[in-house]
This record gives sequence, C-alpha cells and structure tokens, in this order.
Amino acid sequence: MARRTGADTIEELQVHRDFGLRCRLCHPYVRRMLRTGETKFDQIITESESFMGRILYIFPHPDDESFGPAPVMARHRREGHEVFLLTLTRGEATSQRDRLGISKEEMADVRYREMQSVARILDLTDMTVLDLPDGELEQLDPLGLEKIVREKIDEVRPDVVATYMTHGVSGHPDHLVTHAVVKHVYSEIRRAGATYARRLALFTLSDENQEGRPSHLRGTPNEEIDCIASFTEADLERGKSALAAYETYREVIDEHKPLETVSKGVCFVFFGERFQPPLDDLFADLRSF
Ligand SMILES: [Zn+2]
Repeated sequence: MARRTGADTIEELQVHRDFGLRCRLCHPYVRRMLRTGETKFDQIITESESFMGRILYIFPHPDDESFGPAPVMARHRREGHEVFLLTLTRGEATSQRDRLGISKEEMADVRYREMQSVARILDLTDMTVLDLPDGELEQLDPLGLEKIVREKIDEVRPDVVATYMTHGVSGHPDHLVTHAVVKHVYSEIRRAGATYARRLALFTLSDENQEGRPSHLRGTPNEEIDCIASFTEADLERGKSALAAYETYREVIDEHKPLETVSKGVCFVFFGERFQPPLDDLFADLRSF
C-alpha cells in the first residue's frame, strides 16, 4: 500500500488505513519498512533505535544554516533523519553586492543558486527560499511573518524546530525578528496541543572558547547550553563544502572561518527545557505530547 499510495510516513499511511493508533508497537517496524522496503523482520526493533526524526531550520538569510549548523545537518541526513530548511529572504541586501557591482535582483539570483548547491551538498530533504525583503524583516507585519512560519511548521510537522538564539548570534535585526516570530508560533502550536514541534532549539555559540571568534558575535554561557550536537570529521567536511558553495561570500568565510567556532560541537539552547550536562543530539530525550 505504501508503494501504491506513495506514502512515506506513518501519518500518510494512516490516511489510507487505520493501524497503530493506540498501542503503536508496530510503528518502529512500519517506519523501517517505509525506509528500507523490508517487510520481514527477524529481530525486535524498539522505538529508540528506529527513531527517524524530522527537523525544520528557519533562518532569514542564505548562509545562516552554513555558518554553524551545517555539520549537524550533514550528520542527521547521514543517520537517515529528515532535514528541512526554510529561508525567509534571498539575501540580496548583502554588502558583498557593492564589491561585485551587481543589482539586488542579480544578487538574489546568485545567492539562490548558491543555496541550491548547499541543499544538494547537505542532501537536504527539502528547502524553501522565500523572497521577503532582506534586511527589512523588522518593517513587515509580524502577523504576516507568523502566518508564513506557522504554515510551514504545520506542513512539515517537524519533531524539532530550530532557529537563532535570542541575541541572533550576530545581532542582525533579521535574526532577532526571526527568533521572535518562530518562538511565538512555536508557543502557539504547543498551546494548541499539537503532537509535532516537540522542541524549539535555539542556535548559539559557546562562550567557553572565544578564541578567533569575531568580536561582534554573541554566545551563551556553557551552563545555559542544553545541547552540544556532535558530528564526525566527514560531517564537518560536508559542512565546509556547503559553506564553500557561497562563492560570493568567500572573503568573509576565509576571514571568519565560521565552522571553527563550532569545532567542538554545535550549541543549542532548548526553549522551556533544561539539560545539564548538555545532550549530544537535538533528537535526544524528546518529549512526547
Ligand atoms: Zn543572517
């Protein structure tokens, strides 16, 4: 039936047939079947070893995902999780435009093409890039922004939503607006009792090792960090390749080396949750609602 209907999640399959609504013991087996095509199982599969998570990153600019989280995105895809990215603008207002001497429209096209390379390199499950005005999100009606974010979260139904920490790391006004909008929408979804959006993860830097970090970037004290997401050397290399796809940003990247600031793991604060010592994965110890 999965093949016939094209369903690739339990929820999609349940549209066609009632199963696993109460005891859910079959879910790990069905999930493995949807992933691998196996229909016979000679071992017991528990929920934790079969768990395939879904994460939606929401950032304002092309490259925000690669200036930090990229190695973790690579890790999750390698592990079989689904990684979605929503980018609100095409990043046309960048100061790099003057250096390149091109129009805003041309810049937007260039950065959109660069993002498509990033999506390929990181093997993103899906990427949506909107055309909201770069550098001007604070001028927009926040209710309109919230509607856009809400619709995407309701469509993707991610386990984890990720965006910037309160200070936006670089303090860019678009980062601050995105944080506020996503947090408000997340809180509304939680209040409505949804079974998805079980965690809001806020990307930040660790205050512990500030060596080599550009002085305008903000971090978080270690005791407030709930997750230091680990990754392999290969994941890091993939993250670096994604970053390198932003050819128009090469000078900035070479100067700041953003992935060196996350070399010990990508740090997140979880909104409304506390983990000390920090977890090593964004999907660990997820609450069920
Ligand atoms: Zn940005």
